Amino acid sequence: MNNHTPKPDSPRSCPVSYKDIFHSIKNAVFLMDADWHIFQINAYAEKLTGYSVAALKKMGSILKLVHKDDVDTIRAYHKRRLAGDNDVPDDYTCRIVDKSGGIKWVAVRVGILPDPRYKTVTILDTTREFKNLELLHNREHKFRVMIEHSHELILNVDRDGIIRFAGASAFQIVGYNAPELVESSFVSYLHPDDKKRIEAALDIQQFSAEKDDQGICAAEFRFRHKDGSWVWIEAVCNNLLHNEHIRSFVITGRDISGQRVAEEKALYYEHHDGLTGLPNRGMFIDRLGLEIQQARRRNRLFCVMCLGIDRLKEVNEVYGAKTGDRILSRVAVRLSDTFRGDDYVSRLSGDKFIVLLSDIHNADGANHILKKTRRIFRDDLEINGEQIRVTASIGVVFYPNDGVTDEQLISNAETAMTMAKTNGRNTCQYYDAELHGKMMSSLKLERDLTEALRNGELVDYYQPKVDGVGNIIGAECLIRWKSRERGLVLPQDFISIAERNGAIVDIGYYMLSKACRRAKLWQEQGLLPIQISVNLSPFQFKQRDLVYRIKAILDDVRLDARWLELEITETGIMADEEDSILKLKELYALGVSVSIDDFGTGYSSLNKLKDFPLTTLKIDKSFLQNIDAKSRSSTITTAIIGLAHDLDFKVVAEGVETHDQLSFLRHNKCDFFQGYLFDKPLPASELEKRLGRIIL
Ligand code: C2E
Ligand code: CA
Ligand code: CA
Repeated sequence: MNNHTPKPDSPRSCPVSYKDIFHSIKNAVFLMDADWHIFQINAYAEKLTGYSVAALKKMGSILKLVHKDDVDTIRAYHKRRLAGDNDVPDDYTCRIVDKSGGIKWVAVRVGILPDPRYKTVTILDTTREFKNLELLHNREHKFRVMIEHSHELILNVDRDGIIRFAGASAFQIVGYNAPELVESSFVSYLHPDDKKRIEAALDIQQFSAEKDDQGICAAEFRFRHKDGSWVWIEAVCNNLLHNEHIRSFVITGRDISGQRVAEEKALYYEHHDGLTGLPNRGMFIDRLGLEIQQARRRNRLFCVMCLGIDRLKEVNEVYGAKTGDRILSRVAVRLSDTFRGDDYVSRLSGDKFIVLLSDIHNADGANHILKKTRRIFRDDLEINGEQIRVTASIGVVFYPNDGVTDEQLISNAETAMTMAKTNGRNTCQYYDAELHGKMMSSLKLERDLTEALRNGELVDYYQPKVDGVGNIIGAECLIRWKSRERGLVLPQDFISIAERNGAIVDIGYYMLSKACRRAKLWQEQGLLPIQISVNLSPFQFKQRDLVYRIKAILDDVRLDARWLELEITETGIMADEEDSILKLKELYALGVSVSIDDFGTGYSSLNKLKDFPLTTLKIDKSFLQNIDAKSRSSTITTAIIGLAHDLDFKVVAEGVETHDQLSFLRHNKCDFFQGYLFDKPLPASELEKRLGRIIL
């Protein structure tokens, strides 16, 4: 230390006066008596209040500066202080009003002086700090309100998985009041199937946060509602573990249960049939695909069974579609009960079910299963008090014999089922490729035939009927199909198909009206009038409006009914005797003749037929094939002619090919003849040429 260094002044010799110090203080300092009366003020008070020192002194009480709303608080504060309350803080905050009327927030601190009659009051302007605090306060309030009013579930979850904060909307979403959630484990609310996944996601988050200090992940999980149900939450988890203010995961999520349920429903319906609840075709194809893979690998066989409910369309028509639906549902339940384990039952479409039988490797096994399946249909179903007989046709295929792809197996199983239907329904059919080929061509024929009717490819041929001396007394109208694609098609190749699909009705009326028109035309041309015979299929004969439609045709063509004869087979007439009698009587009344075709091939007795209003009997051509004096056929033929005459029937022999046959028939008094011996069936134009001519 050197001698020139000035020694610090002793306090006693300090050149700065207390007054200077007093005025230099950058807080307002007031000296007051117990009644708040101002004695002394420092210079800064002028700055704080805007009043001059003189004006302040004149003001008298410092309380005049205080905002009126804070005066009572201040009085209360000082009262407590004077009473010696130690809990009273050293300072307090209040507002003062400056000269310009501006409000300032101030911190006030009261100093005690040795003379208790006086005190100092130091006032610090805290307006800026207060404004900042207020701003912060408002902002916090705003965020709080936002969170409280948010429809999202907001949770803060700490590093240990404990919920530290929950937004009020938790109540609406998961049924808990926010405080109930706080301090509990987040994952304890999660669905067991989601727990591991979410725990792992949070772990990874935590780990990544430690590494690179950030991470947001999205997840969907089920959160247990207070009522025990599960709420699907779609959440975003924001890792703010590193944020010193938050130090947690912030999980915000919304309730997507409705959406999830709809999605799950949609997914279900995408794979299941809405009516029966069974897997649908798509699911079956998937399952079948797997089975094919396995069977190929293990070199094994398996079986697929297609089951079609018989006549469901008719049931729908008679009992209503609802009943049809219930039948399908019941069958579905019975099938599911019958087939369990590895068997897979699906609804293929409409009235078809399909079953994958992975354990069936041979026909024996399949037969056993078929027996079991048919038992399902043994008893009638009772639906809405009605006993309904329900049967099914079943088609069976084996992998790999009947197909190696899902498509082949399903399609061939369906084909086999259709074959079972064709074979009379309520039966089973193993797939048969040859039969399939036949069926395909008959299906094509069926389609082509409908076209043929529209295109006018169906034409009428006529085979004359002659009397004992060879006069043409009539002609049988026989259908021919002049197909552009197939050439001339004979009725034996398409009539039964038309009968099967019902097209025979339209075809029948088409031919009937053609024949009637033709007969009328010939009459108008002045040719010898003949009776035209038209064949009626039993299927057509069954139609309720048969007589009405025949009359309509006759009226339309203006042909007298006596020139029309209908040929109906015995079986056609005997199918529903009561109905037949009614119809035959009506036809008789109309003046139309009816002849029994192919007589002798059925089982009806002539005795029975005598009650029917019939005019003619046509002996089937099979009886003429080996006619000689001693044969059985000739005995029968002779008997038929005799009996028919006794009952007043005219007798026509068809299929007369030889003179021997003719002379035999003549000898036995047969009335009329038809056959190649006279003419083959002829085009209308050919017959026309023969009319009015004696043939033999
Ligand atoms: P159908 O009523 O018994 O007709 C007689 C069949 O015997 C005709 O066969 C005819 O060509 C044939 N035929 C005639 N004379 C002889 C002969 O001397 N010897 C032999 N072997 N056969 C002879 P087609 O024309 O082939 O008709 C076959 C069957 O088709 C008919 O048998 C009839 O049941 C049915 N059919 C033909 N046209 C129609 C039609 O317009 N409507 C309906 N529903 N069925 C028809
Ligand atoms: Ca006939
Ligand atoms: Ca016949």
